[in-house]
Amino acid sequence: MNRVYVKEVVLSFVFPKRCPFCDNVMDFRRVECKKCADDLGKITGEVCLLCGYMKKDCFCKAHKHYYKAIIAPFYYEGAAGRAIRRLKHLDDEKTVNMFAEEMSRIFDEYLGHLSYDYVTSVPLSDLAYKKRGYNQAELLAKEFARRLSLPYRETLSKTHETKVQHTLTKTERTGNLLGIFEPFIGDVSGEKRIILIDDVKTTGATLDECAKTLMIAGAQEVVCVCAAITKHENKSEKAKQ
Ligand SMILES: [Zn+2]
Ligand SMILES: [Zn+2]
Repeated sequence: MNRVYVKEVVLSFVFPKRCPFCDNVMDFRRVECKKCADDLGKITGEVCLLCGYMKKDCFCKAHKHYYKAIIAPFYYEGAAGRAIRRLKHLDDEKTVNMFAEEMSRIFDEYLGHLSYDYVTSVPLSDLAYKKRGYNQAELLAKEFARRLSLPYRETLSKTHETKVQHTLTKTERTGNLLGIFEPFIGDVSGEKRIILIDDVKTTGATLDECAKTLMIAGAQEVVCVCAAITKHENKSEKAKQ
């Protein structure tokens, strides 16, 4: 046994290693616990950059977004879904680091050949920020930016409260978001190429409204990177079967 290994074994007794997905104590040699590893919902292989789904799950027909591409390392389900829900209530550094690492890995794989000027995040309203004490999208964005050696900049503010998105229909969701983000003057202009970060893409309406605001303010291109993407079923295809 080498000395580094012995040190790790001793340390694991003093500071047990916890799984970044479920926070349970796990074997110090693992990246995630066995239970979570079996239930990750990882996005791999051929990916559609218009919706972020694996090609086999994609049913989008045309690109109708202000953002140019979207990518995420996980579907919003299983262990990744539980970890993101936990992050909404608890600022857990190891979970933020794990997601930021996975987000930078998948970004490098699919969009790393392009160059960007800086990283920004989907904002919370002042009220939501005060209530939670942190913005999980901002935490992810800062860690993601550090890994890419890019600057992080706050570019958007949320001007008023909106109803919780998942309680609304798709049309209501879009209407619910119209014009609610405002750019900080000076940070966006100059034809900048921007990476926009959020924790979860649900319908993409929030990300698109942010991308639209950035584009109107003078950005040249916006791509989105999320920790996870909600997998919707293709209802029209299902109806045909
Ligand atoms: Zn776990
Ligand atoms: Zn697609």
